[in-house]
Amino acid sequence: MTAEIVWASATELARRLQAGEISSREITEALIARTDEVDSKLHAYLRRTDERALDAAEAADTRRAGGESLSAFDGVPLAYKDIFVTGGVTTTCGSKILEDFLPPYDATVVSRCEAAGLPMLGKLNMDEFAMGSSTENSAFGPTRNPWNLDTVPGGSSGGSVAAVASGAVPWAWGTDTGGSIRQPAALCGLVGVKPTYGLVSRYGMIAFASSLDQAGPITRSVEDAAALLNLAAGGDDMDSTCLKEPVPDLLDGIDGGIDGMRVGIVREFQGEGSQRGVRARVDESLTRLEKLGASLEEVSLPSFEHGISAYYLIAPAECSSNLARYDGVRYGRRAAGADDIVSMTSRTREEGFGDEVKRRIMLGTYALSAGYYDAYYGKAQKVRTLIARDLERAYQQVDLIVCPTSPTTAFRLGERTDDPLAMYLSDVFTVPVNLAGNAAISVPCGLSDDDGLPVGLQIIARSLDEKTMFRAAYAFEQDLGFHERPQL
Ligand code: GLN
Repeated sequence: MTAEIVWASATELARRLQAGEISSREITEALIARTDEVDSKLHAYLRRTDERALDAAEAADTRRAGGESLSAFDGVPLAYKDIFVTGGVTTTCGSKILEDFLPPYDATVVSRCEAAGLPMLGKLNMDEFAMGSSTENSAFGPTRNPWNLDTVPGGSSGGSVAAVASGAVPWAWGTDTGGSIRQPAALCGLVGVKPTYGLVSRYGMIAFASSLDQAGPITRSVEDAAALLNLAAGGDDMDSTCLKEPVPDLLDGIDGGIDGMRVGIVREFQGEGSQRGVRARVDESLTRLEKLGASLEEVSLPSFEHGISAYYLIAPAECSSNLARYDGVRYGRRAAGADDIVSMTSRTREEGFGDEVKRRIMLGTYALSAGYYDAYYGKAQKVRTLIARDLERAYQQVDLIVCPTSPTTAFRLGERTDDPLAMYLSDVFTVPVNLAGNAAISVPCGLSDDDGLPVGLQIIARSLDEKTMFRAAYAFEQDLGFHERPQL
């Protein structure tokens, strides 16, 4: 019974709840028991809210008994990356500077999921302020990959993927500024979506780089990803960058197939830059898409090679500004024993931020400073425009673009911690999508022959074309039938 519950998709759990075969309390208890079993090995959770989840589950059961369910998913539990503020539940963003921060309100993503009746099981580990690709930058210790405990789960949403991949929760929210949903999803054999910039409200999502940050679902199936996005996407007066257009039902027509779709393969990514095992699975995936009726066409994205350089100027520049608010006065930690405000603020930041966050603040401050602004930040913005134009040009030729999500499978803990540039290169295929604001999904495409670890296929779509993206991902997933699970 328990195994059946913990590996069921959220959609399947919802169906069983509606059929009266199971209660939300039973589901929630099974997931809590699974978390007890696995989380001492994984460290996916920073904070568990078991009691709150059980109370919410009981409330959902009562509503259902009275015929008053809040949504089709009323009573299906979830968990959030610790970047989403949760009223009355400590939210740290993986940082010591927010160690005891108790938010007075809920992020929009959270309030919409609460309104749909989804019990919250807790808050998930992450790289500090979402800066990283391995979750090793968390101030509270790393998360491990359930497929191999000596490897990283990816990052920055590493806690979210470890929890979903280990059966501790059916789905979770992550955020993606340069790859933080898609890369960890790929490394843990999961589905991860970076929606179009502005599709999901950023209200209450702790800011890293505001022109790039987007929230998105991490799930074990494409259908669940579309369903979770359905629950939270759409206009929000509390976020002026949230698009006002009505969001179509992303599940509607998801099984429409890909016959006749034009799929772009990127000339510049052919043959190099990825591990052999990754390349092999991605090449097979292209053949599979063709078999399913898509036509493959080569597209050229010449500016993509500058994506990492542009991102590592723009993201630090925005972060240096966003993180100025952690001054020891308004939020969280304050250093003790300082004589004046200047030393209090600098000591608070010295003690409260980790090395990677400090590195980004310094880089960003430098890139924005008088005399360097045009040469660095200004130029990076121009590259950003070129990348967006490359994609626009490609979409005149194709409906979607496919490439690996990550150039490698999960790497070993500690392998890249002394080499920030090696860590940054994890995001070479994901970062350009954030710079252009487009939508993208990572779907599992098998296990690498090199190490038996999962490989992810990235499917990129034009802005607001999530429906086409989901249709292709769904057709691919159904045909492949990836049912492997980590042995944990
Ligand atoms: N790994 C990238 C970084 O360190 C992306 C992080 C993210 O998407 N939040 O900035």
